[in-house]
Amino acid sequence: MSATRVDTVVVGGGAMGSAAAWQLARRGVETVLLERFSPGHTNGASHGASRIFRTSYADRTYVELAREAERLWTELEHESGSDLLTVTGGVDQGSTTHLAGIAGTLAELGLPHQWLDAAEAAQRWPGITFAGRALYYPNSGRLHADDAVHALQRSAAAGGAEVRHETRVISIDVRDENSVIVRTDDHEYVARRVVVAAGAWASKLLTGLAPLPPITVTQEQPAHFVPRDPDASWPSFGILHDPDGPDAPEFGGVYGLSSGAEGVKVGFHGTGPVVDPDHRDFTAEPRQLAALQDYVRRWVPGVDADALTPISCTYATTPDSNFVIDRTGPVVVAAGFSGHGFKFVPAIGRLLADLTVDKDAPTLFSFRSHSAEKVV
Ligand SMILES: Cc1cc2nc3c(=O)[nH]c(=O)nc-3n(C[C@H](O)[C@H](O)[C@H](O)COP(=O)(O)OP(=O)(O)OC[C@H]3O[C@@H](n4cnc5c(N)ncnc54)[C@H](O)[C@@H]3O)c2cc1C
Repeated sequence: MSATRVDTVVVGGGAMGSAAAWQLARRGVETVLLERFSPGHTNGASHGASRIFRTSYADRTYVELAREAERLWTELEHESGSDLLTVTGGVDQGSTTHLAGIAGTLAELGLPHQWLDAAEAAQRWPGITFAGRALYYPNSGRLHADDAVHALQRSAAAGGAEVRHETRVISIDVRDENSVIVRTDDHEYVARRVVVAAGAWASKLLTGLAPLPPITVTQEQPAHFVPRDPDASWPSFGILHDPDGPDAPEFGGVYGLSSGAEGVKVGFHGTGPVVDPDHRDFTAEPRQLAALQDYVRRWVPGVDADALTPISCTYATTPDSNFVIDRTGPVVVAAGFSGHGFKFVPAIGRLLADLTVDKDAPTLFSFRSHSAEKVV
């Protein structure tokens, strides 16, 4: 089998791996990005027309990472000449404890946010039902997912990275602290570092190589709904219910945003059936889809609940929904993005590139911080 010596191999050409390759190429690091499927594939978690961007988290680690990503999305837009982030504003309602936590952190950091009473919110966004006061974030918006992945790969290649699609990694063998062999069906790479950003396939590829927490892979099924008024403006939105609350719906609350011509995307969060990513049916589970339509009829009257197109996509969720971003020997890991990783992508690319030169990632994402769960 032919072999190539290279500084860093990145496994996985979804959003995270592509961002790592972009950041490594920017630093002049000899990089090869290996993706098993073709460009624009829909088998993972990074495809489609929309993802919510927001800096609204209660945990400062996430807020600071999102703020860095906000700057880097702009840099990538300039570098690639693509429009990736559309600021639409965002609004959350429900779970007062959760929202109070977010408002508290945003106030501490001096970040823009505003409480609105239900009438004010309903006047601004008549397409959404508001049952109480809501928290508004002017800098939230919509990321164009497909265009972002494409821009990252194109900029990585322009910076000197080799981007190879339809190239499946079949094994990763650590030789020592600074040497690893990455094998594909017909080639071998000898590298100083390997970044494994394999999404739903992370546990399969990293078993025995890195101390991952349990990661649950689910097939999520949001849908695009046809808006009743095609000219209406839509924020990104979250409707959160206290799980023990009297009207807590079976599948919990929803997130939503406009996906432009494709309609308004609405979905439950992390409630899809558990799947093996290599054996999926890409088909919406009917009972949950009907529950989503019922939910939309009540809470999102601005769309036609019967005019919908289901979407299929994977979540890879850790027990506490915190990411796993860390290094062990020559292996750098990016896993467990738990359905909320896209907004941070360019900043996570920076974290991964830093880890290849032995800089630490935030403690919250470390193997150690996840290991406590196993003990439990
Ligand atoms: C329905 C849905 C809605 C979401 N909404 C939001 C949102 O609004 N805001 C937000 O911030 N986040 C959101 N997310 C989460 C976000 O999309 C993910 O966190 C992110 O896309 C994860 O990227 P990834 O690169 O880790 O995974 P993936 O995109 O799945 O990439 C992994 C890649 O690795 C490749 N691969 C796997 N094994 C191999 C191998 N052996 N060899 C070579 N290549 C391999 C796969 O083919 C794949 O392309 C959402 C996710 C879903 C599913």
